[in-house]
Amino acid sequence: MIGKVYKCDVCGVESSAPIRWYVLSCGETRLGIFKWDQSEADKPYSLHVCGEGHAQVYISRWFEACLCSDTKIPEVEIESNLISLSKARFGS
Ligand SMILES: [Zn+2]
Repeated sequence: MIGKVYKCDVCGVESSAPIRWYVLSCGETRLGIFKWDQSEADKPYSLHVCGEGHAQVYISRWFEACLCSDTKIPEVEIESNLISLSKARFGS
C-alpha cells in the first residue's frame, strides 16, 4: 500500500515509506516503542519518529515530563536532559 504519508513528531520530516522509523505509544504512566508497524502507526494516539535519534529525543522529553509534570518540557539537548535527570535522582 502506498500513498499514506507519515510525519516525524520530533523534526516534522515526512515519508510515505518510513521503513526505518519507530512508533511510540505514549501514556502518562507508560511508554512503548515499536519497530515500524503499520497497524501500530495507525492507532490514534501513536507517535511517529524518523529514526533512533529522534526516538531518544522523545523518550528524554517523556522522562523529563515524568519527573516534573507541572513544568513545561524544555527544548534542550539530550546530554543536558541526562545531566538534569541524574541531578534530580541523586541530588546536586
Ligand atoms: Zn525526525
